[in-house]
Amino acid sequence: MNGHALLSASGAHKWLKCTPSARLEETLPEGTSEYAEEGRLAHEIAELKLRKQFIEPMGMRTFNSRLKKLQANPLYKDEMLHHTDAYLEYVSSITHSFTSPPYVAVEKQLDFSEYVPEGFGTGDCIIIHGDTLHVIDFKYGKGVPVSAEMNPQMQLYALGACAAYSFLYPIANVKLAIVQPRVGEPSEWELPASDLLAWGESVKPVARKAFAGEGDYVSGDHCRFCRARALCRARAEFNTALEEYHQMKPPLISNEEVGAILVRAQNLAKWVKDLEDYALSECLKGNEMPGWKAVEGRSSRQYVDQDEAFKLLIASGIDEALLYQRVPLTLPKVEELLGRKTYTELLVNTGHVKTEPGKPTLAPISDKREAISRTSATEDFGS
Ligand code: SF4
Repeated sequence: MNGHALLSASGAHKWLKCTPSARLEETLPEGTSEYAEEGRLAHEIAELKLRKQFIEPMGMRTFNSRLKKLQANPLYKDEMLHHTDAYLEYVSSITHSFTSPPYVAVEKQLDFSEYVPEGFGTGDCIIIHGDTLHVIDFKYGKGVPVSAEMNPQMQLYALGACAAYSFLYPIANVKLAIVQPRVGEPSEWELPASDLLAWGESVKPVARKAFAGEGDYVSGDHCRFCRARALCRARAEFNTALEEYHQMKPPLISNEEVGAILVRAQNLAKWVKDLEDYALSECLKGNEMPGWKAVEGRSSRQYVDQDEAFKLLIASGIDEALLYQRVPLTLPKVEELLGRKTYTELLVNTGHVKTEPGKPTLAPISDKREAISRTSATEDFGS
């Protein structure tokens, strides 16, 4: 089982909703990004730490030399050590919660092909104790918080783990957790194994359709992770369907219509960005994009060698104090520097951090935060 599965667990949120997307993506080149590479490196550091702790106890010399190799990667940042520590601490807190040592597997290849044709993937960490299976995923991204609740990727991993271990362990409960330290506390979700297996059965016909490339193209939030996101006709038609609102009567649109337009407008903004990225890459390749061309962006000035430049300025009589600004780090930066645990101990628990409520902001109804309302006349729209 090498390479990528056509119907990957990580892509399930996409092919479960838009069944022909996996076959369409197959026809398009796979891209990567600096964020993806950064995430891969953080995963390798996390894996090393978990292996040392649970799988292959190793001396500090071996550990440090392996870590050093990873740190030589140009994408390495010191904060990766804090964030991977937070993941290690979470996994350790689970293993220590039992009265006897649990079974632990790290970077375990999981086969869920009983439910999804040729489906397999790699689970970051599997823990089994008694009748409970834990599936834990480490996510390094901070742009999009990922919830464990009803998460298809996690459920497919759990199905793979049930298939692999049910002969050895009487798995009755399944606990899923996503540790995304740059976003906040781990997201957890628990369900009976029977519910998970029932979900697996419900997925089978959809997965068969997706494997065959059949079904309707369905556009939505999941499109932004699709390789076809810029050129997909279904997405284009969905987004340009905004025009149908021109027909609206009476002259003022209703709150229902405002809500519906805003949902579409969010997708529209992401789609336009994907089109811009695609058009720029085509122009840079020398391909024609009618009405558009690639140009140099705004230039920026940079020191050739800042140390040498400052030496010259100081030697010319400029006071060194004028050349530097002492700026305090923001709390998120301090947390990044210290790691969540130390930050909480030193600043939060000692009363040095206060939390002011944020400005009211519009969010989709699916947002987990509680809805607020203000009735005072001074808060009214337009005041
Ligand atoms: S862009 Fe969206 S609608 Fe088009 S194939 Fe991908 S997931 Fe489906």
